[in-house]
Amino acid sequence: MMASVETARGRSGDMSADGRPLAVVCRSVTKSYGVGGSKVVALRGIDLEIASGELMMLVGPSGCGKTTLISVIAGILDRDAGECSVFGVDFNTMSGSAKTKFRGRNIGFVFQAFNLIPTLTAAENVAVPLMILGEGRSASVRKGREMLERVGLGERSHSMPSQLSGGQQQRVAIARALVHEPRIIVCDEPTSALDHETGHVIMRLLKQVALKDDRVLVIVTHDARIFGFADRIAKMDDGSVKSVQTPAEMGLEVE
Ligand code: ADP
Ligand code: MG
Repeated sequence: MMASVETARGRSGDMSADGRPLAVVCRSVTKSYGVGGSKVVALRGIDLEIASGELMMLVGPSGCGKTTLISVIAGILDRDAGECSVFGVDFNTMSGSAKTKFRGRNIGFVFQAFNLIPTLTAAENVAVPLMILGEGRSASVRKGREMLERVGLGERSHSMPSQLSGGQQQRVAIARALVHEPRIIVCDEPTSALDHETGHVIMRLLKQVALKDDRVLVIVTHDARIFGFADRIAKMDDGSVKSVQTPAEMGLEVE
């Protein structure tokens, strides 16, 4: 973990209503694509707080700004205006290379389409983030295998992605997002390519393996069948967060 992150967190001191440190703080965040007549306003002033240890879901219709918002939170896209910090760190204060380094260490991504590298084994795929951080190949692959064991796929370490089912491939992608122990795990529609049953298995696994007191899990989803796994659900529409509620407050069954 980078020393600067600790320092920044100590300085910020922001807390959630129930006294947990805030991992993500967005205030009046705006973001547009394009210019002039082709300008699209994707975020119209987002206010959102996510506490450490929380599983936050972002839900809402296609095009409402979910992917844009998680990209800003993860430092992949620059916001136009407003404030956004992750564990007390504001990407706008960082140089490009510092940002890349911070992302590499602190952020893990799980994509809808898994995005595994077809020519690498499962364990090698999981090892990629570690190798990018400069860890040696054999140590990285060994840790990749260990992480696969934690997601119940130890015996498939040597399999190629094409030899795995959709649910298994998503487990490999989750192992890859977690192998470097990032503090923020961002999942963009992680269950939408999976059947209902497998989607539930994946959500249970994510909660079990990914969620810890000093981390956050941000899941973008269309899939109402997994809403019950959230601690809180932020409903978005047309570039804004319309409400933030617990599944119980929404009358949903809690998983
Ligand atoms: P969601 O993930 O909720 O479907 P997005 O964040 O992808 O929504 O998109 C929000 C809005 O921004 C949409 O109107 C979309 O068409 C637009 N948009 C997203 N990415 C781009 C881009 N690279 N260039 C132009 N417009 C974009
Ligand atoms: Mg999207």
